[in-house]
Amino acid sequence: QITDAGWNLDNSYARLPESFFTSCNPTPVDGPDLIILNDSLARSLGLNEEVLRSEDGVAVFAGNSIPENAEPLAQAYAGHQFGHFTMLGDGRAVLLGEQITPSDERFDIQLKGAGRTPYSRGGDGRAAVGPMLREYIISEAMHALGIPTTRSLAVVTTGEDIIRETDLPGSVLTRVAASHLRVGTFQYIANWGTDEELKALADYAINRHFPHIEKEENPYLSLLREVINRQASLIAKWQHVGFIHGVMNTDNMTISGETIDYGPCAFMDTYDPKTVFSSIDRQGRYAYGNQPYIGGWNLARLAESLLPLLHDEEEKALEIAQETISDFPALFERHWLAGMRAKLGIFNEEKEDQALIGELLTMMEKHNADYTNTFRALTVDKQEGTALFESKEFTEWHKRWQERLSRQEESSDSVHELMKNNNPAVIPRNHRVEEAIEAAVGKEDYSVMEKLLEALSKPYEHSEEKARYCTLPEPSDQPYRTYC
Ligand code: AMP
Ligand code: MG
Ligand code: MG
Repeated sequence: QITDAGWNLDNSYARLPESFFTSCNPTPVDGPDLIILNDSLARSLGLNEEVLRSEDGVAVFAGNSIPENAEPLAQAYAGHQFGHFTMLGDGRAVLLGEQITPSDERFDIQLKGAGRTPYSRGGDGRAAVGPMLREYIISEAMHALGIPTTRSLAVVTTGEDIIRETDLPGSVLTRVAASHLRVGTFQYIANWGTDEELKALADYAINRHFPHIEKEENPYLSLLREVINRQASLIAKWQHVGFIHGVMNTDNMTISGETIDYGPCAFMDTYDPKTVFSSIDRQGRYAYGNQPYIGGWNLARLAESLLPLLHDEEEKALEIAQETISDFPALFERHWLAGMRAKLGIFNEEKEDQALIGELLTMMEKHNADYTNTFRALTVDKQEGTALFESKEFTEWHKRWQERLSRQEESSDSVHELMKNNNPAVIPRNHRVEEAIEAAVGKEDYSVMEKLLEALSKPYEHSEEKARYCTLPEPSDQPYRTYC
């Protein structure tokens, strides 16, 4: 038992009805070895990073030792996977408990890749080190970009191989989340639970994430509204930085509004709404340009799940749900527009802004412009060397943009500042992420990843040394592909 690491665990989820989860311990592994620890996150959680690095500390991350007061469990949930509804649950993750931080916040501590659970179906409950490092790098990059996300506390290797197409080193990622409540958690209870259980889940979600709505007349309608708003804001932020989640199944959409489940996600280089990286997304269901629609579709599944709580009469409940969900597109649009205005240095609102933004995007698509670097060039006012910047239509657009900026009171310094804070200089480019993982997995050289993480930790610093991370991948005849 480890007490001096600073573990201060409660498990409020374990006090929910027992059909919501199954108690189960992580499966111990042969040879745990710490690859990376997130020191600053550890400190903010009230944990002692030196103790975490010790053999006893690492044993917890590997699932070989259970901290005091942990009540390990696997959560039950369902979900629509590529549109098909199915029972799921934590098949390779164990929730140790909720860490209560020195500032009295509550965060789930989950071991991902910790062995089989009752929800594993045919799977081995394990995770390969490459994908877990990928989740670590991209989730921490998202956090630094200011986008709500689960965090990554540590990655360990297990000393055991796992069987995929080839044998790969096994690993466990320690994930930190506001909670692991998903749209799919509600779908599971709505389909197989009682109305009392559904109410217990909704009350729990409200208490944990939206305590200010507890006393409202219809708190469950407010819950739906809150989640819709958080997801509209979240997906707008994804669009702003060119993030493609890749597998927006309802089980991968949180109630908290955090990005979760970094599997086949990746950042878009060339601007194209049809961009898809995931090898299994053959229809482009989760393409960049589709993310807002899928978000709305998923939230409609949440609304359906909440029906019994929205009104006693079924017809009335349906009416309320439909009316509420129909707000999503306009809400998304509002969040999206606000962020796009900021990317172009626009403070006030004019009706024509949407057209100005749309025209830029249309030109970017036509001239195969890199999404991030185009906005970065506008930010540092260095528009050169691309087909887009050399086109006549861009010159015309630029003139109209400058005129637009002159119709607001803010100084050009303020415009520059606003753009700097909304247009990252560094994103986790696919070739950089691959390079870091290759060095780590192939050569146990973690320096490439550490340098990348350092650059990604300050994405809005537009310094010269950041330029290295702006270079595009070598052109390839094979499109970049990601795997679950
Ligand atoms: P994901 O695509 O990562 O969101 O996972 C979908 C479902 O498959 C979840 O219920 C996971 O827990 C489960 N799963 C994924 N990989 C494994 C594995 N190696 N062993 C058992 N279950 C898994
Ligand atoms: Mg149970
Ligand atoms: Mg998932």
